[in-house]
Amino acid sequence: MAIDIDYFLKILAEEVRNYQVPVVDLIAVQTKDPFRILVATILSARTKDETTAKASARLFRKAPDLKSLASLDEATLAKLIYPVGFYKNKAKYLSDLPAAMEQFGGRIPDDVESLTRLPGVGRKTANLVVAVAFKKPAICVDTHVHRIMNIWGYVETKTPLETEMALRQKLPAEYWIPVNSILVAFGQGTCKPLGPHCDRCIIANHCPQIGVTPRKAVKAKDKGKSANGKNIKNGVKKLISWNVNGLRAIEKKGFTDIVYELDADIISLQEIKAMPEQLPESVRNLNGYEPYWFPAKRKGYAGVCIYTRIKPLSVIYGMDIPEHDQEGRVLTLEFDDFFLVTAYFPNAQHGLLRIDYKLQFNRDIHNFLDRLAEKKSVVICGDLNVAHRPIDLANPKQNEKNPGYSAPEREWMDTFTGAGYIDTFRKFNQEPEQYTWWSYRFSARERNIGWRIDYFCVDPASENRVKNASILNHILGSDHCPVSLDFE
Ligand code: SF4
Repeated sequence: MAIDIDYFLKILAEEVRNYQVPVVDLIAVQTKDPFRILVATILSARTKDETTAKASARLFRKAPDLKSLASLDEATLAKLIYPVGFYKNKAKYLSDLPAAMEQFGGRIPDDVESLTRLPGVGRKTANLVVAVAFKKPAICVDTHVHRIMNIWGYVETKTPLETEMALRQKLPAEYWIPVNSILVAFGQGTCKPLGPHCDRCIIANHCPQIGVTPRKAVKAKDKGKSANGKNIKNGVKKLISWNVNGLRAIEKKGFTDIVYELDADIISLQEIKAMPEQLPESVRNLNGYEPYWFPAKRKGYAGVCIYTRIKPLSVIYGMDIPEHDQEGRVLTLEFDDFFLVTAYFPNAQHGLLRIDYKLQFNRDIHNFLDRLAEKKSVVICGDLNVAHRPIDLANPKQNEKNPGYSAPEREWMDTFTGAGYIDTFRKFNQEPEQYTWWSYRFSARERNIGWRIDYFCVDPASENRVKNASILNHILGSDHCPVSLDFE
């Protein structure tokens, strides 16, 4: 069904008047200063609005303009803007900004191409600055605009850049500037990435809801049941797996809010890089979940944990192989009718220096899973540190000899799936460009230059218990995104 974009955006512009205003718009209302708008926009990337607002206020007290910014060193800037996401990188961008501005005579440029020549300014930031600071036609496509436009079927695109180009062709000019603030507010308040509130959405009767699973309210009397409203013991369980690349780091990026939004029955994490006693209480004891920890002996390295709403019958720490177990790589919970194993597979490392160890680990875990599968169903999830086929990474040719896509690693994956283990995501989705990990360098995530190395697999006999599997690539906070499995 084709949507009426005029109707949608007009009605939503009214609707979001009462919502919280996105922070960059707020700063634009408070000041017409392009410098402040540019800096706040740089700070806001991958950061909650509330955190951006506080960090911007602290920074502008010391550096209200370009000249005073130039007098602050990188370490001071990092201190002032902490804890915005990637604060160290952003401190470097801000430190480099005054010199970079010289090419524009010290004035903030008002076009997208010039702005993208400044440190830390990608297309999204540049478009936002042009639209908000200079009120010039520009379409800022962030994750909310990209996602919601696809839900409406107004565009059919894979990346924010494709969405921007498609919108430039068809979105009426009057909406170019306001579309971002309307859809950011709407995306944060109603059409949320995880479980949109379609039940209270003003345009629900006209929205095609493409690819959407609407939120279902969990009532008090349903406590003890899974998020999908069925009895946890016998119904479909929602399982999540996520390499968080450091629990202490991700805790500062809204981890607990994300977990409650995910509303899963069991959440498995890899690369926690912390002992439980090093974590704040809010992470050590997530409300409603029982945590099980298996950190590495070496501090700040590897480690896995599982939070569960379903009480396990037993817990198996490691595989009884000291060489692997000291690295905190495998944790297993036994439930009535399945084992859940979470694993952080070793990285073969640059030059494939650790390939022999990795292949030994792979063989050992395969044997371990086979032994469990003799008793009951097995679900194995985690960072397998391998992209299986060319479709599973952006640049297969260039990476044929690199860790994560070397021939021996792919061959092991062939052996594993050849033995009947199901890569559940590929059961439902054969599309390319479906990734779970992106390098922090070269704006890889923005450009979707990624790898699919995080999996949910099940033993051969349990395929019919798999109801759905997906990649939650809109969830930020780590260089990996979570993956999910609905398992009956
Ligand atoms: S009906 Fe649901 S999916 Fe459609 S816009 Fe509203 S909240 Fe989003």
